[in-house]
Amino acid sequence: MTVVPEIGVLALQGDVVDHMRAIEAAGARAVPVRRESELDSVDGLVIPGGESTTMSKLLTVFELFEPLAKRLDAGMPAFGSCAGMILLAGEVLDGRTDQRSFGAIPMTVRRNAFGRQVDSFESPVELTGVEGGPFHGVFIRAPWVERIGEGVEVLGRVDSGDGPAAEPGGRIVAVRAGACMATSFHPEVTPDARVHRYFVDMVRRSGAGTVE
Ligand code: GLN
Repeated sequence: MTVVPEIGVLALQGDVVDHMRAIEAAGARAVPVRRESELDSVDGLVIPGGESTTMSKLLTVFELFEPLAKRLDAGMPAFGSCAGMILLAGEVLDGRTDQRSFGAIPMTVRRNAFGRQVDSFESPVELTGVEGGPFHGVFIRAPWVERIGEGVEVLGRVDSGDGPAAEPGGRIVAVRAGACMATSFHPEVTPDARVHRYFVDMVRRSGAGTVE
């Protein structure tokens, strides 16, 4: 007897297919979400990477912003990667003035934070609660978490060297707060489903899913 949650992947833009494959590999059912009726039936949601400013606009155009904000307020589990992390944040630095975010995780994130020279890079990330060694973090014009508010647990940091990005202990790149989690990196581009499994377990623990 296993509980199989149905997890939506916001499918307005970005890495939808890879997240769906990773969610299925992690033991849940994955469905693309483009409209409110599709959002209504899911037990949790992945907000993929892409471009947070564009996704913010598309959420408004597709009339999904308010319904999604409501579900997040009501405690629906969500996992945001990269641009998805930005969309879950309470405050966005270096964003566009008209970009909106859900404030589901009380944190401040900085867009494109790692700077031009390291637009994209790969680095191992030790993740609290994810066993089996460091995760291979793929960072693509990634944000970092600059400040966290009450109730936010830091799950992972990345060594930020001694350049302008330096921060003792490294920059925060993975967090969790209540039913929501976010990573600066893209776990869906690796064959390793441990981060998605962590999220699927969160959704299961929230009591959602059908018993099969
Ligand atoms: N820099 C992008 C943004 O601001 C995020 C990049 C990504 O999701 N790979 O939305």
